[in-house]
Amino acid sequence: MSDLRDLYQEVILDHNRRPRNRGALAAATHRAEGFNPLCGDRLVLELAVRGDRIEEVRFEGEGCAISTAAASLMTEAVKGRSLPEVERLHAGFQGLVTGRPSAAPADLGALEALGGVAEFPMRVKCATLCWHTLKAALRGGEQVATTE
Ligand code: ZN
Repeated sequence: MSDLRDLYQEVILDHNRRPRNRGALAAATHRAEGFNPLCGDRLVLELAVRGDRIEEVRFEGEGCAISTAAASLMTEAVKGRSLPEVERLHAGFQGLVTGRPSAAPADLGALEALGGVAEFPMRVKCATLCWHTLKAALRGGEQVATTE
């Protein structure tokens, strides 16, 4: 049980209870949906990108505590960042949760809270769903209308 308690540490519980940046984004320039069939986590991610910077990001969806906390933490981490910085964060995060640190270490900040996921292979996809969805959105998979 103590392992599980480590996984659901305070930061994760807090972001699950009070997700940051949750809701729809009226002026979204990028949008993608993500689904993790392993756990049933669903996610809609909307971004407002200007130049090479993510100015705003919001998410909606239903999922487990890990997927909700991961999305909440990710939105805080990438908001206001340039796309190369986001790329570096993603690589660093992927290394953190798979237990294979990336060659280019990034300052992950609060994202470190999800490091315990590396001990639970079934949970890795819960933690990385939002990042895969972010990548899909940035690739321009499904655009939505914008007032710009
Ligand atoms: Zn999940």
